[in-house]
Amino acid sequence: KKFDYAPAPESRSVVSLQPSYGLFVNGEFVDGHGASFKSINPATEEPLAEVAAADASDVDAAVRAARTAYTRVWSRMPGSERAKYVYRIARIMQERARELAVLETLDNGKPIKESRDVDVPTAAAHFFYHAGWADKLEHAGLGPDPRSLGVAGQVIPWNFPLLMLAWKIAPALATGNTVVLKPAETTPLTALLFAEICQQADLPPGVVNIVTGAGDTGRALVEHDGVDKVAFTGSTEVGKAIARAVAGTRKRVTLELGGKAANIVFDDAPIDQAVEGVVNGIFFNQGHVCCAGSRLLVQESVADEVVRRLQRRMSTLRLGDPLDKNTDIGAINSAEQLDRIVELTAAGEADGGTRWSPPCELPDRGFWFAPTVFTDVSQTDRIATEEIFGPVLSVLTFRTPQEAVAKANNTPYGLSAGVWTEKGSRSLWMADQLRAGVVWANTFNRFDPTSPFGGYKESGYGREGGVHGLAAYLADGEGDL
Ligand code: NAD
Repeated sequence: KKFDYAPAPESRSVVSLQPSYGLFVNGEFVDGHGASFKSINPATEEPLAEVAAADASDVDAAVRAARTAYTRVWSRMPGSERAKYVYRIARIMQERARELAVLETLDNGKPIKESRDVDVPTAAAHFFYHAGWADKLEHAGLGPDPRSLGVAGQVIPWNFPLLMLAWKIAPALATGNTVVLKPAETTPLTALLFAEICQQADLPPGVVNIVTGAGDTGRALVEHDGVDKVAFTGSTEVGKAIARAVAGTRKRVTLELGGKAANIVFDDAPIDQAVEGVVNGIFFNQGHVCCAGSRLLVQESVADEVVRRLQRRMSTLRLGDPLDKNTDIGAINSAEQLDRIVELTAAGEADGGTRWSPPCELPDRGFWFAPTVFTDVSQTDRIATEEIFGPVLSVLTFRTPQEAVAKANNTPYGLSAGVWTEKGSRSLWMADQLRAGVVWANTFNRFDPTSPFGGYKESGYGREGGVHGLAAYLADGEGDL
């Protein structure tokens, strides 16, 4: 179906975009000293706003503001008082949910039904959940006197801009730390709207600071002497550079990096339910998901049937205007990301894979990629080993559960996996065998603030969410976890 560029006016009018945005430092929007940049709508390539870039002096001002707020206000405040602020933020996020969802979709390209039903409510849920911990930290099994670390320097990617912000800021505030956060350069706008929400919540100035900019802004932040804790979500490559940069300093570090998850379908699984889970696993958010089920491992006896039903289901996916409530597949976030997907899928064909996409007319403007599945894939092909971060699924087969485990674990990553089977005992055995931080059984891509999330191997270290996530923001916080 031809894509209609005119966004639903009632949706877009929910947000009032300013022509330009400053940095958020010490409770105020200020100019940056770096070269400002444009954030664009990836579905249309239209500029949305001019955004300030923080240079090292701006980052220094933000870290100083966070330090002052930490020593004078936030670390002295009883947990019950901190909780009130965090609850207030959560409630304002709910009140402004439509605005946040539309802005996220405009800036990121993801379908509005995802930002409306997943990103924004889950982000608010993180603030609600962590608000509840703020006055109960001594009951968290983290020792009798859990202490905050100080200033957290946090750097996040573009795939879930608001949700990644919530994963970072909510536990930091609840545990009594102050924050300087850098959003990704292609998706800074919801972080700046969140800054406005902090003002609305009367959060004391300096407790949350937002510095926009590219990788050099992130580097200035994580390398700043005044930062006590570094929390990074992004690529494994940059994660390793950060680990090297902070090695030998006092800084505590958590890294949430890439993935190449296996979604494993056994022959006893209800096939339609499994196919739905496989579709959700790889096409949710255009596959821009660190835990995306990018490798389908299907038992040989049902492989043909699963692939047939998968292709039939893929033919019903609607690609197009991300602001349309019926859209399933939105835009690819940037030209660079699109280039990477194109390069890896070309390698998939060159390596002998059979490529299939449903008939699908792509819009003329913006960055788009049709949902794609590769069969005849070998375990060593680049599409089966490298993170594509796009709507591209590779199909591999197995005969026995042992073979499924061996193939699933045959990756440098270890973030997540999915298992589809009627047998509970098999799910539990698989969960034990799979080297993945999260193993979903008969579901996929479920996120909940009460559950710790994080990786093994090159997917990083540390956990976010749940009581384990609190430990990452507390001195001696590993406790008895
Ligand atoms: P990226 O590593 O290129 O960038 C992430 C962030 O780091 C951006 O804000 C960027 O400006 C900043 N940055 C770049 N160079 C830096 C440096 N030297 N020092 C400090 N900061 C720097 O990743 P991306 O392309 O934005 O995101 C995609 C990646 O994120 C994928 O690999 C994906 O798997 C991963 N990811 C992981 C999780 C998780 O929880 N494990 C969640 C979402 C995304």
